Amino acid sequence: MREPITLKCTECSEHNYSTSKNKSNTKGRLELKKYCPRCRKHTIHKETK
Ligand SMILES: [Zn+2]
Repeated sequence: MREPITLKCTECSEHNYSTSKNKSNTKGRLELKKYCPRCRKHTIHKETK
């Protein structure tokens, strides 16, 4: 049931993280605050495929 996803920085659009999510209990787009090496700070990262 787990689906592989990529997390993308919303400020610079860099793809920084790969993870997976459980599709059955996660609705909509995943948003996580993660460190972006390009922005050199924590930014919101959104899931992409
Ligand atoms: Zn960034």
